Amino acid sequence: MTIWTDRTAVPNISLTGVSGIDRAAHHRLDEAWLAAAWSHPTTRVFVVSGGQVLVDDTPDGRTELVMTPSFEAPPTETHRYFLGIDADGVRYFALQKDALPGRMDQSARPAGLREAGALLSEREAALMVHAVALENWQRLHRFCSRCGERTVIAAAGHIRRCQACGAEHYPRTDPAVIMLVTDEEDRALLGRQVHWPEGRFSTLAGFVEPGESIEQAVVREVREEAGVRVGEVEYVASQPWPFPSSLMLGFMARAVSAEIEVDGEEIHEARWFSRDDLRAAFESGEVLPPSGISIAARLIELWYGKPLPAGVPR
Ligand SMILES: [Zn+2]
Repeated sequence: MTIWTDRTAVPNISLTGVSGIDRAAHHRLDEAWLAAAWSHPTTRVFVVSGGQVLVDDTPDGRTELVMTPSFEAPPTETHRYFLGIDADGVRYFALQKDALPGRMDQSARPAGLREAGALLSEREAALMVHAVALENWQRLHRFCSRCGERTVIAAAGHIRRCQACGAEHYPRTDPAVIMLVTDEEDRALLGRQVHWPEGRFSTLAGFVEPGESIEQAVVREVREEAGVRVGEVEYVASQPWPFPSSLMLGFMARAVSAEIEVDGEEIHEARWFSRDDLRAAFESGEVLPPSGISIAARLIELWYGKPLPAGVPR
């Protein structure tokens, strides 16, 4: 039995759209090409700092990533990330800086992915998520995991190289599973994490462990966190989630037991919701809608059958 067959029913998931950007990875080690690309007049540059970029609102009500030509960009030689080329031949770079530039535009403001991911175009959101993921990885991998000496940035931000032992280190992506579990009455299992505020319920999620398939991780996490046994598991979609370096792999899963026993460590409370239960809980304010950009919201919508009320970015 297949639970979900209609792929066209999968709602649009933030940060996963067609970006229109060719990452052009074959140029990353070509210093002459990179130097020419950097100084080209059509090249566009933005600064990333602490997971934030500058965004600005346009007169027609959109929100844009603030980008400049390279000659207007703040100076940096060592933390320059080449992100790719669009269909018009425009090259994009991100600069990692300790702080965002003080002035770009009077109305420009700093924004993290949770806010900007829902506002920017697919192309700009893709550029931002690439830059934020690289920045997070760079920040956490300054020392060689083989010999402990310092590493230096290489390949336009996509490698860190150890000058002592020569090891090359590549950006990490940690797979995590996120799943909407339904029971035989087609109710959805939603949980509240220990650190979440009252009323915030969402899908269960957890990291894939070494030597484990993603399907096994779904079954194990649901059992550990909520005490519910899962049978069939079906992959739906993925979403980059660089907080700091995850790839969220979204699943629908069918429970073969209904009794809930939360672990109390990660999940404080879990409940089965019918669609009517959830609608009533949203309307009364008992349950808060999940973040607009999260794949959790899209998985819940896929089951719920229509868009959820607008959630608060988190
Ligand atoms: Zn080393």
